[in-house]
Amino acid sequence: MDIINILPDSVANQIAAGEVVDRPASAVKELLENALDAGASKVQLIIKDAGRTLIQVIDNGCGMSDSDARLCFERHATSKIHKADDLFAIHTMGFRGEALASIAAIAQVEMKTRQHDNELGTQVIIEGCDIKGQESCSCPAGTSLAVKNLFYNVPARRNFLRKDSIELSHIEEIFKRVALINYGTDFLFHSNGKILYDLHAGNFAERISQMFGNSSRERLCRVDEDTDIVKIHGYVTKPEFAKKTRGEQYLFVNHRFIKHPTLNAAIEKAYTDVIPERYYPGYFIHLEVDPSRIDINIHPTKTEVKFIDEHSLFAILRAAVKRAIGQFSLATELEFNPVEEVNFPPMPEGYVPKVPEVSYDPNYNPFHSTEKSSGSGYQSAKRSYKDDNPRSTAWTSFYDLQTEAKKEVQFAEPELLSPEPTISEKTTVDNTTPCLQIQNRYIISSLPSGLLIIDQHAAHERVIFERLRRQKLSTSAQQLLFPVNCQFSPADADIFTELMPDLKEYGFEIGNIGQTTFVITATPPDVKDSEIQQIFDQMLTEYKSAMLQKFADRNQCLCRSLASHMAIKAGVQLQQIEMQQLIADLFCCQSPGVSPTGKKTMTIVNPDNLLNDNLSK
Ligand code: ADP
Ligand code: MG
Repeated sequence: MDIINILPDSVANQIAAGEVVDRPASAVKELLENALDAGASKVQLIIKDAGRTLIQVIDNGCGMSDSDARLCFERHATSKIHKADDLFAIHTMGFRGEALASIAAIAQVEMKTRQHDNELGTQVIIEGCDIKGQESCSCPAGTSLAVKNLFYNVPARRNFLRKDSIELSHIEEIFKRVALINYGTDFLFHSNGKILYDLHAGNFAERISQMFGNSSRERLCRVDEDTDIVKIHGYVTKPEFAKKTRGEQYLFVNHRFIKHPTLNAAIEKAYTDVIPERYYPGYFIHLEVDPSRIDINIHPTKTEVKFIDEHSLFAILRAAVKRAIGQFSLATELEFNPVEEVNFPPMPEGYVPKVPEVSYDPNYNPFHSTEKSSGSGYQSAKRSYKDDNPRSTAWTSFYDLQTEAKKEVQFAEPELLSPEPTISEKTTVDNTTPCLQIQNRYIISSLPSGLLIIDQHAAHERVIFERLRRQKLSTSAQQLLFPVNCQFSPADADIFTELMPDLKEYGFEIGNIGQTTFVITATPPDVKDSEIQQIFDQMLTEYKSAMLQKFADRNQCLCRSLASHMAIKAGVQLQQIEMQQLIADLFCCQSPGVSPTGKKTMTIVNPDNLLNDNLSK
């Protein structure tokens, strides 16, 4: 007896529908994407009862002919690919020809569509795959597709729907993903008669602020990178606005929202040294890649993507974001155009580049070294300058960016020293711009482009942090005239012993005397003898609590803690030369704009703007 049947289309479509449409939000996604594929410049989304009773999308796209209007509900009916090869050059969102067939299998659908050249349009009514009727009608050019009573014939699915508020928030999220990256299109989104979003065509930044409020402009800095394998454009949160939850994280590839754990990690990695652990940046990043080098066909809901150049993409994306946040305070406030292009030469297939790292010479000081000045808190590291130093160009190119301002540069370029400079030869710094300290807390100085205001503690934290991270400070350790003893509880003493190798790398020289007592004979340059015990106590406390967290980076956590306790505090009065050195050191940092715990270190005010603003009011 034969027992195999071919399932009727209606049943096959219903089964397939389960994959494509599992909740109202997925139908919304398919309809919005079809509207955009049809080239619409205006798209309206109308929702009733969180999509249970109505999901309607109205577009002014190309519309369909009478027969296409019937055919589009057939399975594998698509105008977007003709042969298997087309799959590798897809520029549209849809291509499987499944969505409308699936939706029609599980809902009552009413479609009106008209091509721009035709006077009359056509209306099609379908219920659970059966065409109930088609007739000519007059309607605006474009397509209006209404999906009513979703899952009316699949009670099991209907019963699985969550509360309206939850289903609506899924719809909203889908809407945001689509509307964010299609910023050249107008969108109007109604739910139960209320307008939730009314978005006008503009650029990416405008779309982000229309959607998330104007304050997003202050929170974001721009990322721009143009390489042979990828164009990156978008915005990431400034470190000080990182949040404890992964909130607004949007990654797009070729105008399509995607999830890609590796690339998402690349962005978060760029923040490692500038925000505390367990804080997350927000981002809106668009990658444009040659469609033949990606495979979007691996998941029916198509938020997952495979890239041929994944390793390179990771490296480039991380470097691009890192650069953007390292320079944000300068880039956005001075309105630089994107700073120095990174040029990635074409890469042979399969070539895996090294993740770019900015290299440092820990011995480099652009202003030569200073003698420790008397009295107060800020002592500069004694480092010497070598003329082949990579940082020297980084430093000077910071000012090259403002060509016109270059003449006025007041920080002299470092003068080349004889091959073997001795530290004691130099007693002054080359940054001679006068500084003013206010409230013993902020330093005011001038840059060619405006007034520079620095938070002395945050800035010094950044300087020390980067110095410690570079780790090879043992050579610049300062011998103490009188060794200092430190004592810890037995448990802390154990941890301290474990950390001694790291601390030695940072420039501490430590010996054991007894189980719980240690003698410190040398420290890195910024430590005051009287504060050593306190610095270590705080470091141990913070280290213990940080290590309770998964994935904590030991080195980073130590450096952050040491930097925050070693840095000059607010309230400490500084000498002119110390302020000048601090500014010089800060600008040699990789991420000068922000402290290791995410506080802003500086701001640059353009007095012209201030005064003109006032006059115009
Ligand atoms: P896919 O988008 O994968 O091709 P769909 O089932 O979503 O499959 O749509 C089938 C076809 O119907 C599309 O290829 C397109 O030709 C047509 N179509 C769907 N929606 C619209 C629309 N809003 N405007 C014009 N044509 C449309
Ligand atoms: Mg589609």
